[in-house]
Amino acid sequence: MTASLILVINCGSSSIKCSLFDHEQDHEILSALGERIGSTEATLKWTHDGKKHTVDLGQADHQQALGKVIEAMQSVGIKPQQLLAAGHRVVHGGEAFSASVAITPEVLATIDQLANLAPLHNPANAQGIRALQALFPDLPQVAVFDTAFHQSLPAAAYTYALPYHFYSELGVRRYGFHGTSHRYVSAEAVKRLDLDPDDHRIITAHLGNGCSACAVKNGQSLDTTMGLTPLEGLVMGTRCGDIDPSLHEFLARRLDLSLQDVTAILNKESGLLGISGLSNDMRTLVQAADDGHVQANLALEVFCYRLAKSVAGLAVATGGIDALVFTGGIGENAAGVRERVVTQLHWLGLNLDVTANLSHGRDQMGLVSTTHEPAVMVIPTREEWMIAQDTLTLSQTQWDQ
Ligand code: ADP
Repeated sequence: MTASLILVINCGSSSIKCSLFDHEQDHEILSALGERIGSTEATLKWTHDGKKHTVDLGQADHQQALGKVIEAMQSVGIKPQQLLAAGHRVVHGGEAFSASVAITPEVLATIDQLANLAPLHNPANAQGIRALQALFPDLPQVAVFDTAFHQSLPAAAYTYALPYHFYSELGVRRYGFHGTSHRYVSAEAVKRLDLDPDDHRIITAHLGNGCSACAVKNGQSLDTTMGLTPLEGLVMGTRCGDIDPSLHEFLARRLDLSLQDVTAILNKESGLLGISGLSNDMRTLVQAADDGHVQANLALEVFCYRLAKSVAGLAVATGGIDALVFTGGIGENAAGVRERVVTQLHWLGLNLDVTANLSHGRDQMGLVSTTHEPAVMVIPTREEWMIAQDTLTLSQTQWDQ
């Protein structure tokens, strides 16, 4: 039996998301989502061949949930021996990782240490790695970092104007996130537009619940909007993005809040939700704005203005724009958001094709502008597939010697 399956795992503190790819067929053959792990009501939803299944997990931990994913695979005739390797999404690679790596004990120890930069994410990611190692000690595993693509940022882009020892001693700098998505959609734009791999300038906007934009020149990230944490930059579903750093003290003093209280507000009660007072969901806001909801419309205006301003700012890093690429749930589906953003960037030569934009460029390979140069594109992100690709490449070079 040839092993051709790659298991992609994205492990959160109370969730686990898995995608199974067959590299010989280049598509996802099974997906699974475990939720409320660690509580008494954990569930696993999985899909194979268009059929959806739900399994009650009771009080499962990550390892037990992964065990159930393997059982789900077996129940549809997929054998564990068919697994070639597993790839894990790891949020923070700090300055230690500028590309995906094969997981060794040293790599895992470094991921553990980087928990000081991503205390909510890296421990959960490491837990997923250990859980799979316990189930399959000999299966090659790969780590793919959200931050790695942005390790090419020059010091001028990643340095905060703070006392320098905060960087040298504590690692306080801009790291950026969503790297796998920015890397995938920018490379895809190069292919679709037939741009020179060594001479192109692309701005990518990943707009999901979290949002970030990135300046990509000749395949390298030169600047991005997220920083030390994913709170910096664009307006997001519930995160505020850029604010005056004095706000922490102002709110703490005026409302008698702790630093942690303010941080929680900025992360969970701000952004689209905070401005609209209605929802963090773009679909709800678009509908409400159409129905005359003033704050929903304001939330959209702030979201789009800030994004347009960031795109123009990122063009300083690239020295111009050959293509602006939208991706993520909002970027791929919200035609009105794209229209508001591109209209504000008309002076940069960006012109939307209104009809193509309404159909998300589906019949034009994602092209939604009237011109190719510069182009505006909608490219659905494929982070899991990208993780599978890196895993395949590393498993062939690292372990097959
Ligand atoms: P995550 O960051 O959790 O992966 P997604 O990439 O799925 O999030 O994006 C979620 C966002 O995409 C939500 O704000 C949602 O409202 C928005 N979205 C999804 N479909 C549409 C649509 N048809 N029109 C507008 N917004 C949409």
